[in-house]
Amino acid sequence: MRKPMLAGNWKMNNTRDDAIHFVLNVDSKLPKQGVDCVICAPAIILRDLVKRVETLKIGAQNMNENDRGAYTGEISAFMLKDTKVDYVIIGHSERRAYYNETNEKINAKIKKALETDLKPIVCVGEDLSEREEGLTNAVLETQVVKAFSGVKIENPENVIIAYEPVWAIGTGKSATSEEAQAACKFIRDLLKKLYGSKISNEIRILYGGSMKPSNVKELVSQPDIDGGLVGGASLDENSFIDMCFACIYE
Ligand code: PEP
Repeated sequence: MRKPMLAGNWKMNNTRDDAIHFVLNVDSKLPKQGVDCVICAPAIILRDLVKRVETLKIGAQNMNENDRGAYTGEISAFMLKDTKVDYVIIGHSERRAYYNETNEKINAKIKKALETDLKPIVCVGEDLSEREEGLTNAVLETQVVKAFSGVKIENPENVIIAYEPVWAIGTGKSATSEEAQAACKFIRDLLKKLYGSKISNEIRILYGGSMKPSNVKELVSQPDIDGGLVGGASLDENSFIDMCFACIYE
């Protein structure tokens, strides 16, 4: 049985004070078991958060695939590990769109994250025109196959994929539970071809895209959706707590 996960992606929001206030208020109110609750925060405040949480896990939103060197403004996997974060988002659609992240770069980042003992949350998803042209599965196949090319998975519980249709991110228009389930099942079937049924059954697949307290339960009750990656609604303390509880299996 896969353990559900609710991961908040704060993006470029929250100052250090806001963030500390949030985690101090939220940490003791989260479920102690049955779900992994994660906040992926701006890199500059990760260390401040890690030392203030017990139940909540902390993740980063990006990392560089190189070990060190002349990469101005970048942060390595080793540096993240040094702040004691557990997770790192890789290949978010905003990074693909605004920072030219290719599937090849995402592949290198996943390899480096796993090598460094960070748990990658790998984002995939089609944009609106691709969906309208019936290309959703083709896009997902390319993104997943290229992202995981040559990636050895020893601990499938440490690899997370987030299906995030780009047209649903930040738009208030979530995918329906049927659409989200179909895409997540397609991804799981692909993983089965790549890694076999044991591993594919243990990798968690999250849905992301305008998830909020009012729709989380229906989405996560789908057989191949193991939780959510949540942007906007994760910035509100009560919404975040509610969504974490809603992910626990009944
Ligand atoms: C995201 O950025 O990963 C996301 C899912 O955002 P939102 O929940 O705001 O749509």
